[in-house]
Amino acid sequence: MRITLQQTGSKDDMEQQSCCICASHFQLGPASCLAITETGILMGEVCPACVEAGARHIEGWMERRARWTAFGARQDAQIADEGVTDCPTVDELLAAESFYGGPMFETHEEFDDAVRRGEVS
Ligand SMILES: [Zn+2]
Repeated sequence: MRITLQQTGSKDDMEQQSCCICASHFQLGPASCLAITETGILMGEVCPACVEAGARHIEGWMERRARWTAFGARQDAQIADEGVTDCPTVDELLAAESFYGGPMFETHEEFDDAVRRGEVS
């Protein structure tokens, strides 16, 4: 992977970006740092903090991401092997929506409080 510098394309591009290495949000300026794989795949913008921390920092992020991605892939494969054992029909979903008529609480906080009190599971 190489990190290249280039002039940002337009003012519209100078907005909040998500770093393709660490996922932090940052404000893109008139210069962009782009991560590009050796096979030419554009990964995206690299934030100033990752650029400042350097190549080892970026390699460390990529190694951690690779481990998490592999873990997620194994977990997804296990879930796929389980198959779907039960699934309502759309008619059952529509009947449930009609039966309930609305959510249990107005806010997440009210719902969370009810869960803490053991009133909702
Ligand atoms: Zn970053």
